[in-house]
Amino acid sequence: MFLIDVDGNRFLDFAAGIAVCATGHCHPRVVEAIREQAGRLLHLCATDFSYPEVIELAERLARAAPGADPKTVFFANSGAEAVETAIKLARLHTGRPKVIAFFGAFHGRTMGAVSLTASKAVQRRGYAPFLPEVHHTHYATCYRCPVGRRPEECDIECLDLLETTLFATTAPPDEIAAIIVEPVLGEGGYYVPKPGFLERLAEIARRHGILLVADEVQTGFGRTGRLFACEHSGLEPDMLVLAKGIASGMPISAVVARGEVMQWRSGGHGSTFGGNPVSCRAALATLDLLEDGLIDNAARMGEYLLARLRELQERHRCVGDVRGLGLMIAVDLVKDRTAREPDHELLQRVLSAAFHKGLVLLGCGASSIRIAPPLIVGAAEADRAVEILDAVLGEL
Ligand code: PLP
Repeated sequence: MFLIDVDGNRFLDFAAGIAVCATGHCHPRVVEAIREQAGRLLHLCATDFSYPEVIELAERLARAAPGADPKTVFFANSGAEAVETAIKLARLHTGRPKVIAFFGAFHGRTMGAVSLTASKAVQRRGYAPFLPEVHHTHYATCYRCPVGRRPEECDIECLDLLETTLFATTAPPDEIAAIIVEPVLGEGGYYVPKPGFLERLAEIARRHGILLVADEVQTGFGRTGRLFACEHSGLEPDMLVLAKGIASGMPISAVVARGEVMQWRSGGHGSTFGGNPVSCRAALATLDLLEDGLIDNAARMGEYLLARLRELQERHRCVGDVRGLGLMIAVDLVKDRTAREPDHELLQRVLSAAFHKGLVLLGCGASSIRIAPPLIVGAAEADRAVEILDAVLGEL
């Protein structure tokens, strides 16, 4: 749970390398798996040859992925690369060109992935032209509803833009290969969609033969209190995109697709390093630890932290909203509670002040503190983090 800098300062880590170090830093069982594998086989290229490590991990992910259909797994090295894989596969399988993504979404920074990303202008500015045939629609960012509804009158009208406008004008459904969605919006502000949003999206996709791709790069591997966030709403996507927490910090990503969907032409796709055996072993050790109690801990500690952080909302007027699922929690800072105007400048000052008090945090969205500690977090560390935040918010 701790980082020590070159001067010997000790920091409580509530960012986990952007939600990557699921098992904490250098968990002994992960380190041992890496050491042992490093002495046996470093590389072979899974595109050309098989080795037990890559098969074992593929089988394990295929079994764990939601939905009864048999699955096929492709390994790459980063979230963005896995997203690229999903775009290519969706086009190949459907023969359709278009992809739908969401405003607020983050899918990575390679050219295809950044074309889907619509979280912050700076992530796209200067890089156009982007991948053609990408369209964006509204996500259920309920605290700042994109269609101005109040919770009590909401009938998930945010999805109307997709059905009544995009489908009818620029993106007819029979031209759409895939809809890619984060089950909880990540970098865009840790928004948990209203119940029914993902279910309705899945129904729309199914009705039009559009593939549903769940980007679980950030939400996956226990972060939300289930192995995959899709499980909370019973979502069974055609493709699952995985990275970040998968191997506790070793680089590896995966696309787990229905076997019927993942049918490449021979030589049509591949990766030199994807499915590296050392990363595979780190992933297998990570999965063991998750199943041995860390997923349950994430669910338990997530509820605890949410409640403790809501106490801060009562004490500090600048805290407009506290929302989250498992250990994916946003503390949204606002200029005033009625207008809900994001206070980006305050966020920067809070992150900096917390750092100087020994708490590592990141932001997300326009003005939210991103709470994403390793899944090993205990009550004592959660209390300490809340205590530091309380002090910082009181001082600023
Ligand atoms: N998808 C999501 C939901 C992410 O949060 C990220 C990274 O933050 C990515 C994709 C891209 O992953 P990577 O940085 O490993 O390319």
